[in-house]
Amino acid sequence: MFASDPDVLVIGAGCAGIAAARELAARGRSCVVLEASGRVGGRAFTESATLGLPFDHGASWLHQANDNPLTPLARALGLPLLDHDTLRDRRLFARGRFADAVDRAAFAVAEDAFWTAIDTAAADGAPDRPADRAAPRGGPWDATVAHWEGAQICAAELSRMSLHDLAATALDGPNLILREGIGGLVARLAHGLPVRLHAPVERVRWGSRGVVAEGSFGSLAARAAIVTVSTGVLAAGGAAFDPPLPEATQAAIHALPMGLLTKIAFRADDPASPDLPPFASVRRAVEAPGDRPMSFIARLFEDPLLIGFCGGARAWELQGDPAAAEAEGRAEVAAIFGARAAAALGRATVTRWGEDPLFRGAYSHAVPGAQAARRVLGTPIADGRLCFAGEACHPRFAATVAGAWLSGIDAARAVP
Ligand SMILES: Cc1cc2nc3c(=O)[nH]c(=O)nc-3n(C[C@H](O)[C@H](O)[C@H](O)COP(=O)(O)OP(=O)(O)OC[C@H]3O[C@@H](n4cnc5c(N)ncnc54)[C@H](O)[C@@H]3O)c2cc1C
Repeated sequence: MFASDPDVLVIGAGCAGIAAARELAARGRSCVVLEASGRVGGRAFTESATLGLPFDHGASWLHQANDNPLTPLARALGLPLLDHDTLRDRRLFARGRFADAVDRAAFAVAEDAFWTAIDTAAADGAPDRPADRAAPRGGPWDATVAHWEGAQICAAELSRMSLHDLAATALDGPNLILREGIGGLVARLAHGLPVRLHAPVERVRWGSRGVVAEGSFGSLAARAAIVTVSTGVLAAGGAAFDPPLPEATQAAIHALPMGLLTKIAFRADDPASPDLPPFASVRRAVEAPGDRPMSFIARLFEDPLLIGFCGGARAWELQGDPAAAEAEGRAEVAAIFGARAAAALGRATVTRWGEDPLFRGAYSHAVPGAQAARRVLGTPIADGRLCFAGEACHPRFAATVAGAWLSGIDAARAVP
């Protein structure tokens, strides 16, 4: 099954690695995908064992679906895709009650004003700066919008993020979901590829004549390597490079740190659980400085699940302590729906992307001033003998499965 003398080594079997392997195969090139864990998909991971229902631990939406390379692939497999935006009842909880139509309209105006301010500032010709400096302040919804767009969507506070990168990577709908999850889709797309599981790469030797990957599996040589592990793994030295990477590449890795988004998924079979229609989403407003509310998605595909999202600095504070994250999720539910609804929730599972040494976070953001880092990281080294791919490398669809997929294809086209 595995070529003993492959043209290309692909390191990591997440979206970028699978896309690269498919593109290499389409171009008639042999490859071996070396994956440290016992499964494919990386941060696209859907499983049903824990809660008895499919749960996406990582990606769950095909964002900007009309430009998303995974949309036509899912359709070609005959997988039904649902437009979550048209199905969902969006609820906003503020000042002790669910917002009425007037408040919801005011919140929507504040969201539009946020993006107008970000886009205007990013285009003003001034140097890059932290995104929060461009965000509107002082309005009744501004803190909630900033929390939502920063910690809850980008998995990092706006103060830590490049204004230009935020503007360049902003996403829109449609946001599609599928019954078997994004992990299920990506696993299907990996079918038949030469993926070697339980093969952690510890060292990559590289040069003008080729590459050698070394690990507990032994060593494997090829003409080129495509490295798709996260910037969190790279920054932590999860794979060593010999010789060391060029300084510009190292700087780019450190300028693209991982944010964290933790999901807390509850079984919600008891009728006393929060009373929400299928596909509903709930946000709670920021009520005071330092308040960092979770948001929730209810009953996707009518399944009795309530999924809480905790992003940014609060997620990092809770990482390593799933019991505390679960307790905070229950407290949030109690604050919005009452103690009885919180008590009615069943067992929970908490995602652990931050502490997993194969990921070290959820997805990347560019630090202020580093808006060029994604292009630098995605630039082939040694005439394409060493290429990086993965969500962090994509200047438009960074942080998403779409960006990871497209960057994998780009890298497969760049290797000699
Ligand atoms: C909670 C959460 C929610 C998200 N929601 C969405 C969403 O709704 N929509 C969306 O588009 N995106 C979402 N994302 C982001 C999306 O999942 C990622 O951008 C994308 O899956 C990254 O793919 P990748 O191939 O770049 O990296 P990865 O998926 O990280 O793949 C890298 C692979 O390398 C392996 N690896 C690591 N170290 C080694 C080593 N030393 N040797 C060999 N293999 C190694 C890892 O095990 C992994 O399989 C979400 C992510 C998270 C965590």
